[in-house]
Amino acid sequence: MRIGFIGLGNMGAPMAKNLAKAGHDVTGFDPAGVSVDGVAAGGSLNEAVRGMDAIITMLPNGEIVRAVHGDIVKVADKGALIIDCSTVDVDSARAVHTLAEAAGLLSLDAPVSGGTGGAEAGTLTFMVGGGEDAFAKGKALFDIMGQKAVYCGAAGAGQAAKICNNMILGISMIGVCEAFHLADKLGLDRQAMFDVASTSSGSCWSINTYCPAPGIGPKSPADNDYKPGFAAELMLKDLNLSQEAAESAGATTELGGHARDIYDAFVAAGGKGRDFSAILDKLSKD
Ligand code: NAD
Repeated sequence: MRIGFIGLGNMGAPMAKNLAKAGHDVTGFDPAGVSVDGVAAGGSLNEAVRGMDAIITMLPNGEIVRAVHGDIVKVADKGALIIDCSTVDVDSARAVHTLAEAAGLLSLDAPVSGGTGGAEAGTLTFMVGGGEDAFAKGKALFDIMGQKAVYCGAAGAGQAAKICNNMILGISMIGVCEAFHLADKLGLDRQAMFDVASTSSGSCWSINTYCPAPGIGPKSPADNDYKPGFAAELMLKDLNLSQEAAESAGATTELGGHARDIYDAFVAAGGKGRDFSAILDKLSKD
């Protein structure tokens, strides 16, 4: 396929590279002038959009996605598929689907989990919203960039799944960090606490797979001085999105709100650039 890739940052660059490595004809565009192995450098957005079978965007936020998609729909070929892989608010995701539909284009919202490691290894998970015909067309590309693509439903459903999942993750990581902190204060050995909780009803991804206590459980960012991994400010971005969505949908998400406030304070107090599991380090030093 001829593919235009817009936004060649930490995630977009390795994703575009994997598509090119698989034999697709990829043209990239990023105003930062990034160059990516195997990917032709488009001199302008239009160059990376016109004549393409598929256009993929991987951008920082909803405002930028709305603006860039507003420009894409003006020049994309009729019938082209636009896939937005950025993490954005559900309202922006739905708005860009509407733009694409009005221009006679197929579109998907397809945020990812798996981080930069997953983007490089081609093992991302895609959560996908939009028409089933669009999903069928995009599936081959998801299979190259990732190991799993879950079709979640109509426009915006991919973003909805992403922020619900990450709200669970933010809350559960804080819960696990507080439990280790309490264990410390009670004189309970961290290894014993892990051995019990990781095989009991406290078991969850945040303790079993991504344990925030250094030297305990499988290797995680805690074992690397809390270098991300998944940075605290990105978790804060996702918790802000889930709270905005909860407010606009009228859902009660009190713990989601509290987790947002905790990450907000953590990021402001020096947590920016640290892994989101460093909440345990902060509690230990308070
Ligand atoms: P990044 O900041 O590294 O990359 C974003 C890129 O977009 C930059 O290179 C920037 O120059 C480019 N850009 C900005 N405005 C543009 C425009 N108008 N036109 C074209 N390009 C433009 O961010 P990232 O870490 O690659 O994340 C991208 C998205 O993926 C975000 O929505 C993020 O929430 C999501 N995400 C990131 C991770 C992660 O671990 N980094 C994990 C899952 C999801």
